[in-house]
Amino acid sequence: MTDFGGALKNLAQVKNYNLVIIGVPFDEKSSYQRGAAGGPAAIRRASTGKCYNPDTELGVDLAEDSVLVDLGDVDTAGDPLRTFSSLEESITQVLSTGAVPIILGGDHSITYPAVRAVARKYQPLDLLHLDAHPDMYQELYGDRLSHACPMARILEDGLIKNLVQIGIRSTTPEIKAMTEKYKVKTIEAKDFPEKLQLEFTNPLYLSLDLDVFDPAFAPGVSHLEPGGLTSRQVLDLIHSLRARIVAFDLVELNPSHDLAGITAALAFKLLKEIAGKIVKP
Ligand code: MN
Ligand code: MN
Repeated sequence: MTDFGGALKNLAQVKNYNLVIIGVPFDEKSSYQRGAAGGPAAIRRASTGKCYNPDTELGVDLAEDSVLVDLGDVDTAGDPLRTFSSLEESITQVLSTGAVPIILGGDHSITYPAVRAVARKYQPLDLLHLDAHPDMYQELYGDRLSHACPMARILEDGLIKNLVQIGIRSTTPEIKAMTEKYKVKTIEAKDFPEKLQLEFTNPLYLSLDLDVFDPAFAPGVSHLEPGGLTSRQVLDLIHSLRARIVAFDLVELNPSHDLAGITAALAFKLLKEIAGKIVKP
């Protein structure tokens, strides 16, 4: 049963909602292995209230303290540009109600259209990006919209004020030069401190690529990059975050590589804890 730990309300029965799930079953911009299109369904499957309750570690009861609904999936048939504009439209519509979109990928290319929509409503906007990779290639295999490129497009378009990248452990000298040019704040996985508390004064978009975790914690991704963060490190970072999160995405879950649903369970746990921080910052 897909009920997000019992927190999900029936869209037809609620007047106002504040948290909205949007699925994007899309992996056509993946450079290596396909499979992330199965991400939204895998997270929904993992989210059953038969296994989980709606309470977060910080004591938020998502069933009581929020109104969470699921808009279903964006239509991803046909041209990827059409998928991107459908996603952008769908997020714009959610934001117009004052609610916070929770975007379930899909590969990381979807973050560019998603941030475009959010940046139209919130300016200045900051972006916190958790990932093994900076996703800042100018182009990959001739594609400027590859899942390896969204941060380059977002920076070039001037959509955000501050970009903070956490957990990086696979980069290039060209990308390092670009991070200097745009004054990106980077905390690589090798430099992750004992305790990390981040504060953002502008509204925040949170983008979480599941390959930020060590493969031991999240085997269900397309790019296994050893030496990553633990579940606890990322949960502590989220719990201690001082920010107003106005949108977030969880991307790159590839269920065809998952083991015993470990990564899907982690994705759902993150969704819960981040939703809790939105409800009670
Ligand atoms: Mn990524
Ligand atoms: Mn990545």
